[in-house]
Amino acid sequence: MTTTRFAPSPTGYIHVGNLRTALMNYLIARKAGGTFILRIDDTDPERSKQEYVDAIQQDLEWLGITWDRFERQSDRLERYEEAAQQLRDDGRLYECFETPTELDLKRKKQLNMGKPPVYDRAALALSDADKDRLRAERGSGHWRFKLDQERIEWTDGILGDLSIDAASVSDPVLIKASGQFLYTPASVCDDIDFGVTHVVRGSDHVTNTATQIQIIRALGGAVPTFAHHSLLTGPQGEALSKRLGTLSLRDLREAGVEPMALVSLMARLGSSDAVELQATMEDVANTFEVGHFGSAPTKFDAQDLYPLTARFLHALSLAEVADDLAAAGVPADQAEGFWNVVRENITTRKDIATWWDLFANGADPVIDDEDADFVTEAMALLPEGPFDGDSWGAWTKAVKEATGRKGRGLFMPLRKALTGQSHGPDMSAVLPLLQVIKARG
Ligand code: GLU
Repeated sequence: MTTTRFAPSPTGYIHVGNLRTALMNYLIARKAGGTFILRIDDTDPERSKQEYVDAIQQDLEWLGITWDRFERQSDRLERYEEAAQQLRDDGRLYECFETPTELDLKRKKQLNMGKPPVYDRAALALSDADKDRLRAERGSGHWRFKLDQERIEWTDGILGDLSIDAASVSDPVLIKASGQFLYTPASVCDDIDFGVTHVVRGSDHVTNTATQIQIIRALGGAVPTFAHHSLLTGPQGEALSKRLGTLSLRDLREAGVEPMALVSLMARLGSSDAVELQATMEDVANTFEVGHFGSAPTKFDAQDLYPLTARFLHALSLAEVADDLAAAGVPADQAEGFWNVVRENITTRKDIATWWDLFANGADPVIDDEDADFVTEAMALLPEGPFDGDSWGAWTKAVKEATGRKGRGLFMPLRKALTGQSHGPDMSAVLPLLQVIKARG
């Protein structure tokens, strides 16, 4: 049975970068009718915050990403201890006492000599007596996993056949001197115990994957299928990492982006499948192919979310926007007429309230200097109202006869005078809805 997981560390909000990871794992599980796990990687007690655990869940729910199982690593420390003991017993976990400064010095020396900065395994040569002495001097050590010096190979779901020489990688630290388990052993234990079959994550994890494959095998687990998606860049190919803070799901929601627009874009961006607005998460899942993604960095432009958001909103029925209309103050008996007039002219839901405000309270007229006399003359010809669907045609016909203007030169100044905008719905439909016409003076 297909089982995937999204495993955020609760140290911040979900942004477009990790949303991609969440979505891909979710879609694989949904498409296969499998299980999707939300796993909170909170072994770091200093940086993990409950408020982010809550926020991550809210943001996923907003998007329509639902999980079948919820786990937190901080609940599983005993299991990680058990696994660590197994590795110690098998001679795969060894205690090291170097300080960060000493390790740094070693790295610098290696780099100066043109060597890769791989941990030299000096601690493997320590005798029991050495360790007792170091423990007395420095306190408990940290623990490293002893990699087998082999080529670690796997077929990546996106990158294809990969192979990493274990000798080019430092033995990973699994447990800090404080006793805190790092992400690697916790993640490996969870992936084994929860029966995770597919892991999709960012390509910054490729080296982790190599070491994790060895640890999974050392613990007797089944190695999942790994796939590493490319990282997102800005529209110009610039690094996005610094701007991710402003591309959180919360910010995008606040800006009016619709969940289906975001999901539709992120489920296809960087793949060979065309981005198109999809109606439901089920449709997105059914057409999702992780193997269609490429290895090149993926350009992301938040502006692309707005045409998709607009398209999504234009298709909504009256019932689906009833709450938004009510919140904007649209009376129930005018809701249908109003929605039909403005629906094609909104980009986000916020525009609903903007248009209603314009109709109910009038717009500040925009009148170009060269149109001032024309608009005054036209306003004098505008009847008191109330207006119906024929009023605009009758009025502009009269204005045309009186002023000799026609076409755009006739209509645009009147639109701008009445609505303050140079674009919007058909004016024959707008005029009957305008309750205040400020341009009358
Ligand atoms: N907590 C890890 C991260 O956010 C999870 C990586 C993984 O998917 O294994 O980077």
